[in-house]
Amino acid sequence: MNSITRRDLLKRAAAASGAMFLASRAGAEEKETELKSNPSDPKHSILGPRNNELQQENPDSTFSPPTDHGNVDPFKYPYSFARKKTSAAGWARQVTYKDLITAPEMAGVNMRLLPNGCRELHWHKSAEWAYMLEGKARVTCIDYDGKAFVDDVGPGDLWYFPPGIPHSIQAEAQGNGCEFLLVFDDGKFNEYETFLISEWVARTPKDVLAKIMGTSVEALAKLPKEEQFIFFAQPFKALEEERRQAAGTLGYSKTSFTYFMSKDKPDKETRSGTATINDSSKFPISKTIAAAKVLVKPGGIRELHWHPNSDEWQYYIKGKGRMTVFTAGNRARTMDFQAGDVGAVGNNVGHYIENTGTEDLEFLEVFKAPNYQDLSFTEWISHTPKTLVMSHLNIDSATYDAIPRDKGVIVPA
Ligand code: MN
Ligand code: MN
Repeated sequence: MNSITRRDLLKRAAAASGAMFLASRAGAEEKETELKSNPSDPKHSILGPRNNELQQENPDSTFSPPTDHGNVDPFKYPYSFARKKTSAAGWARQVTYKDLITAPEMAGVNMRLLPNGCRELHWHKSAEWAYMLEGKARVTCIDYDGKAFVDDVGPGDLWYFPPGIPHSIQAEAQGNGCEFLLVFDDGKFNEYETFLISEWVARTPKDVLAKIMGTSVEALAKLPKEEQFIFFAQPFKALEEERRQAAGTLGYSKTSFTYFMSKDKPDKETRSGTATINDSSKFPISKTIAAAKVLVKPGGIRELHWHPNSDEWQYYIKGKGRMTVFTAGNRARTMDFQAGDVGAVGNNVGHYIENTGTEDLEFLEVFKAPNYQDLSFTEWISHTPKTLVMSHLNIDSATYDAIPRDKGVIVPA
C-alpha cells in the first residue's frame, strides 16, 4: 500500500469515526491526515479562564493548524488595542516596534480628522507614506528648494513626504471629514514627538520671533502656547488659489508628493483577486516606501512568497483572512486578521494569506524599499528543471505540468 492510498483510507476513517478514533488507533499518522485542528478534540481543550470573543476571532492561534510548528514571534497587532490620542478635531493612534516586535523597520499611524480638522504643520526625521481610507483631504508641503506643493487627495490615493519636508493635512469642510493610514520608514517613529510649528514658536522668545518675522511682539500676542497637533483650522480655499498664493515669486514645486493610486488599474489580476503595485517607478518621490494593495476574493489565496529586499508591514482594510509565516529552522505560525489589524513579516520570510471570510479581503503590503520585489513558490518551482523538482516533492509529471508557470499572485487563477 503506498502512502497516498493509506492517507486516503485514514481520511475516510477519520470522517467515519471522528478524530478520537485517529488519536487512539493511528497515533503519529494523525497529523498527516488532519487539515484543521478539531476544537472538540480533548487535547485542545482549555479548562481554565478564557476569552471566548478573542478565541473566536483568532481560531488559528487557539487551535493552530497541525502544520504550524515551533516558536514564531507574534506578527499581529490590532489598531483596536492602540490608545487614541484625541482632540476636539480628530485623533491619532499608532502601532510601532514597541507594539509589534516583528516590525522593527516601520511604524504606522491611523488618523481621523473631522471637517476642517488639521494635522498641524510639522516635520520629522522619518519619511511618511500615506494611504487615504475615507473622505478627502488637502495636503501641503514645501520641497527641498523651498517651493510650494498643495494638493487634494481622496480614498485610495497616496502621499509621500521625505525626511525633513514640512507638511500639513487638513480635512475638507464638507462631509464627514477623513481618515488615513500613515506608514513611516522607522519602527521607532513616534507621531506624538514631531517638530511642531506651535511648539517651536512657544519655545522661541517673542522678541526673537518678531525680528525673524519682520513684525512686532504685540502682533504675536496670540501665538499658541502649546501644541495644536490636531485642531480646527479655517476652511481651505480653492486649490489653484492656494497653489498660486503659496508659490509666490519662487515658483511651484516640480515634484509631486501625491499619487492618485485610486485611478490605477491592477498590475496583476486573476479570477481570485488583484494586486496593484506602487513604488518609485510610478511615484518617483517615494524612494523609501513601496506598496501593494491586494484584493483576495472569498476562498482565494495570496500565494506562498517572500520579499528579498524588505520587511513587510501590512494593514488590513476589509474582510477576514489568515496568514501563515514560515521561517528558517522549520518554524511556522498562523494568525488571523480582520479590518483594522496590522501584520508584519520579516524580509525573506515565507508567507501566504488566505481569505477565510465571505466577503472580499483587502489589505496593504508596505515595504521599506524603493521598489516592489517578491519571489513566489510557483514561479520558483515552475522555472526549475522539472526532474529536479519532481525528485524533491515526490510528484509525478502531470502534477508538475499543472503548476501555474506565470506568477498569478492570487490563486486559484
Ligand atoms: Mn507627518
Ligand atoms: Mn508579502
